[in-house]
Amino acid sequence: MYRRESRADAGSVTEGRKHVAKVANIYYAVDPWKITEKGFDKDHSRVSESIFSLGNESTGVRGSFDEGGSIDSLRGAYINGVYDMADIERSYRGIVDKVHFMIPACDWLDTTIILEGEKLDLGKVKFCDFVRELDMRTGILTRSFVWETAAGKRLKLCFERFLDMVNRERVYQRITFIPENFSGNITVKSGLSFETVHEGRKKCFWKDVIHKTLEDRIMLKASTTKSGQEVFSGAVIDMPGERTIESGEKTVRISACLNLTEGKTSAVEKRAVLVFDGSTGDALIQKGEELLSKCGQTSFDVAAKEQKAYWDSYWAVSDILIEPGDTDAKTRERVAAEQQGIRFCSFQLAQTYNGGSFLHNIGAKGLTGEAYNGHAFWDTESCCLPFYLFTNPEAAKDLLIFRYNTLPMARNRARMLDCEGACYPIATLNGDEACSLWQHASLQLQPSTAVAYGIWHYVKTTGDTDFLYKYGAEMLVEIARFLKSRAALGNLTGKYGFYGVMGPDEFHLMVNNNAYTNYMGKRTLEFAAETVKELGKADPEAYAKLCEKIKLSPEEAEKWSEIAENMYIPAREDGLIEQHDGFFDLPHTDIDSIPVTDFPLYDHWSYDRIYRTDMIKQPDVLMMLYLYNSSFTENVKRVNYDFYRQHTIHESSLSPAIHSILAAELGNMEDAMDFFGFATRLDLDDYNRNTREGLHITSIAMAWANIVYGFAGLRSDGDMLKFSPRLPDRWKELKFSILYKGRVINIRMERDITFFSCISGEALKIRVYDSEYTVSHSELSVPFGG
Ligand code: BGC
Repeated sequence: MYRRESRADAGSVTEGRKHVAKVANIYYAVDPWKITEKGFDKDHSRVSESIFSLGNESTGVRGSFDEGGSIDSLRGAYINGVYDMADIERSYRGIVDKVHFMIPACDWLDTTIILEGEKLDLGKVKFCDFVRELDMRTGILTRSFVWETAAGKRLKLCFERFLDMVNRERVYQRITFIPENFSGNITVKSGLSFETVHEGRKKCFWKDVIHKTLEDRIMLKASTTKSGQEVFSGAVIDMPGERTIESGEKTVRISACLNLTEGKTSAVEKRAVLVFDGSTGDALIQKGEELLSKCGQTSFDVAAKEQKAYWDSYWAVSDILIEPGDTDAKTRERVAAEQQGIRFCSFQLAQTYNGGSFLHNIGAKGLTGEAYNGHAFWDTESCCLPFYLFTNPEAAKDLLIFRYNTLPMARNRARMLDCEGACYPIATLNGDEACSLWQHASLQLQPSTAVAYGIWHYVKTTGDTDFLYKYGAEMLVEIARFLKSRAALGNLTGKYGFYGVMGPDEFHLMVNNNAYTNYMGKRTLEFAAETVKELGKADPEAYAKLCEKIKLSPEEAEKWSEIAENMYIPAREDGLIEQHDGFFDLPHTDIDSIPVTDFPLYDHWSYDRIYRTDMIKQPDVLMMLYLYNSSFTENVKRVNYDFYRQHTIHESSLSPAIHSILAAELGNMEDAMDFFGFATRLDLDDYNRNTREGLHITSIAMAWANIVYGFAGLRSDGDMLKFSPRLPDRWKELKFSILYKGRVINIRMERDITFFSCISGEALKIRVYDSEYTVSHSELSVPFGG
């Protein structure tokens, strides 16, 4: 049976209004490595489709039933980078008039099963013993149940699927049948379909579908309607029995009649490829056929074994192990749920992006649904990058190369906004701005400052100055030019600031001197000026080339430094930073007085109503205290945390983890734990009641940061790595590893002591609390508090 109760002690997020007005909806069984759904609740079907999404960076598929049917479903098999476009009415200059959005691509799960004239449709037929299970050690999703036909025949079915993490164009499906009380025939159709309709836009975006079939394989090539992209899909299908080919305009299926024997297992196995690499026409078909032949030779079982090896090596570096303390059963279950939650986050993040290609970025919903159009946001650099920096630095670099490759589009965008340099988009798949809400697309400068921050953070943690000089410098110059042209001198302050902006807190728009924007702008301008100066010294030839390429003069960097030095940061004497001009004067909203049923506010309040008070959507001032943590005193952090926490409603799922991390730093473990549960189980417990639309991939990246930056107290923005371990009361042990400048460092926190060891690479100086230590092969132990 599925479970639908409140885990009574699942944190104060579940207990009502203390910090986050969200309540867990507990459905899946708690298990360290698996996500299991026992029994099927059709009202939960879309949430489960998201939870059971699989991905391998190149492609992703929701956990929909292979056989489709009448159950409520958002069917979607996506290919990273495949999108279509639409024109929108041109309004004013600077506002986008074209958008692009991820579309469902080839449905390779397409299956029909008919037994004695009855078609398998879990919305209509009788079935029992339903179990759906995702094993995070193998990446394989299985679903089994027993189908009881009207005539009393019992057929056990098991569906398995996985997406190959190494040969990323490959996807696998296997269906096994065991008749429990009969022998007889069953009809199975297994195919490929470019017919899936984009649910939001109510349209299928595929045309010009070309078919090719051979005895054991089917192939389709199709083009998108407007963006002109071409995709090849092909499948080798092992299916016993006489086969016929059924072709539709955008589909092709192999149909066969299987002769089943009571108690014996029969199987249908589909090995498919989805090829999208920029090639077109015959060249694409030829490439596709070659890849399909290779895939066809690798059976499900062989590929599954390789897949297991991939995940073994992934978990060896990226796992976070949490052990419960010696406590009551309820608390142990709660810790077990935390353990499962953090693994699920890490698993989904690695499925979405792992550095397979610098042509991809990380969509806010990954490849798990249509919401957010598959777009990547400033979330990549501000929320996801730390996870990659410390588990897969090459992937972190590729994410930044994506920004380098899309610099020409960012330059265009700056021109559209009557600015200089390059303005990075708030939402994009291909580098162009694709957000049709002008307030967000035109007023948010944080995508540009986040790219600069990402470069800074990457270079700081890897020491990769080659990257900085080859790619980073050019991006920094163009971002600095943009900021310079967007900044202005205030009449009253006599200082520089950004006017008419929207900071991370999207509940306040067209504000002046947003503290976050001003501060991030200041740091970006400083870093850009410093980088060109350093490049001039380190590699005069490369510097000269860059100056020539982008017409850079030394005076420009001087101007950036002047603006940075004179940037207005609206802070009071006690350290409280005003979010933006006039924030302290705004009418007060007691956020605890808002009925829970009003959330999410965007769905229940008029759009303009949310802009008029001192209520904050997500951390704004606190975000900069998190990103440039070592640049602020403890007092500034405390004063601002205490103040802004009371104003923030966490309407963005990026929000609670930032609060948890700062609360832990300030020794407020009660708050830290309250905010923590939300990030780790955001989707598993459907806190936001919108997991049905897809997973919050970029927010779940913050779950990793919540533990590593929050409870291990890692700080990576200072002169050396710093840890300030604070183990939550209900944990006995926290264990994880990080990769850092060619080393693997193991960290094991116990109740009163933390152990560090550098298991590969040279010894390293680190700071723990306020003292310096050297970590080497032999274990270093530091008592709690230093
Ligand atoms: C947040 C943005 C974020 C976007 C995508 C919005 O709700 O306010 O900061 O970039 O979601 O995650």
